[in-house]
Amino acid sequence: MIFLNPKALHKISYGLYIVTSKKGNQMNGQIANTVFQISNEPPTIAVSINKQNLTNEFISESKVFVVSVLAQEVPLSLIGQFGFKSGREVDKFAGVNYKLTQGGVPYVTDHILAYLEAKVIQEVDAGTHTIFIGEVTDAEVLKEGTPMTYAYYHQVKRGSVPKTAPAFTPKQEESTVPMDKYVCSICGYIYDPAVGDPENDIPPGTPFEKLPEGWTCPVCGAGKDEFEKEG
Ligand code: FE
Repeated sequence: MIFLNPKALHKISYGLYIVTSKKGNQMNGQIANTVFQISNEPPTIAVSINKQNLTNEFISESKVFVVSVLAQEVPLSLIGQFGFKSGREVDKFAGVNYKLTQGGVPYVTDHILAYLEAKVIQEVDAGTHTIFIGEVTDAEVLKEGTPMTYAYYHQVKRGSVPKTAPAFTPKQEESTVPMDKYVCSICGYIYDPAVGDPENDIPPGTPFEKLPEGWTCPVCGAGKDEFEKEG
């Protein structure tokens, strides 16, 4: 019998990106951690995108995608906008500053260190996901800073992962102090009183019950009534 420890997969390190594409006049984008450079001559990159996601359809049609490299200080709300809402229901770019690449694909301009546009040269069917391999056709550095990593997002920002992400794990790890934590039933964000919600001026040590009435999930915007006690 084969013993497979899923925690071994958590030892793989990743960055965190917004991947955008277009289809006719429409545009869409999503959060992805699965971006990597394949070769240098010519520069090629790859990204793995869930087939259920609208961005997959857009890249398949237009044969172009853009990777925006998130800065470490990116607010959870921007990750929530692109990671926990579907482009089938909302305009992902509503209220977001963006510009167009040479190929006419939008890239987000706030909290972004660099963007890379790639023309798809190969599509690999990987079951639930498609791996798009692209040759870089436009790229620019917008500002210097530390890129966001998947580990930092989880450990420091306490972010959550949508079910269509490659790294999604259905069974969440047991927490050591589960008593006062509350989980967002919409996106899985965990409110930890020991951390508070610094982006919304909630200081560490604030119990969930003491959060102001108007407080909403910093990732997906759900109200307090959508939260459930963990465990
Ligand atoms: Fe949420």
